[in-house]
Amino acid sequence: MPELPEVETIANGLHKRISGERIESVWLGRKPEPLKSPAAEIARTLEGARVKEVRRVGKHIVFDLAGRNDGHSQWIVHLGMTGRMLVANPESEVPKHTHLVARLASGRELRFVDPRRFGRLEVREGSFSGPGSEPLTIDFEDFARLFHRRTAPIKALLLNQNLLHGVGNIYADESLFRAGIRPRRRAHSLTRNELKKLHASLRKVLKEAIAAGGSSISDYVDADGEEGFFQLRHRVYGREGEPCLVCKKKIKKIVVAGRGTHYCPECQR
Ligand SMILES: [Zn+2]
Repeated sequence: MPELPEVETIANGLHKRISGERIESVWLGRKPEPLKSPAAEIARTLEGARVKEVRRVGKHIVFDLAGRNDGHSQWIVHLGMTGRMLVANPESEVPKHTHLVARLASGRELRFVDPRRFGRLEVREGSFSGPGSEPLTIDFEDFARLFHRRTAPIKALLLNQNLLHGVGNIYADESLFRAGIRPRRRAHSLTRNELKKLHASLRKVLKEAIAAGGSSISDYVDADGEEGFFQLRHRVYGREGEPCLVCKKKIKKIVVAGRGTHYCPECQR
């Protein structure tokens, strides 16, 4: 499942490749699940529109469109578990499980492929911001307020998309490790200093992952559809039983909010 850094990488890659392009026509598949808006509405919104910008909002890819009649609308793509956006030459084979093909004025095609069909395509007027705050830009006071008086484990709240959007399991574990905070700590028990460390480490982890992803953009969106997800070198995530990189104690795995959760019992308190 792509998390914030992967979605940011993909959105940036698409922006580089197709911003300024006009969508000439759209083909939609017959499977209903990927279509959050009616097929006819998606086709009507996309056809003839120019892609002004592609960017990430939460875990969504947002295409800002300028319509034929100067209207402004948005095409919003959620990749789900297995969704991919491919920029392809029309002569390349259309992969199985392709649900949308947008033919671009340059002759290339933008294809949405999703074998498991948890991804979603939607169009809307106006501007989409999604629920929750943006973890890369939220300031410290607003960040601290999210956890004020909350008794849930801090890890569960980091994953709550209504508070912060786009933070997933990997980056929640990694940022808690760097901040020295145990995932099960009740949010209201965190000191101001701990919250400061968490605010800083969350942004740092996400930014490092985005920077690491820059080099794999081409692998990701290229026509053959190879998955190019980079992996930030994880310090705790997926390292159960391995020695902590700081203190050499074994990394533990527990379940918090239904998710496998990794931490160092020595470095995190
Ligand atoms: Zn440790």
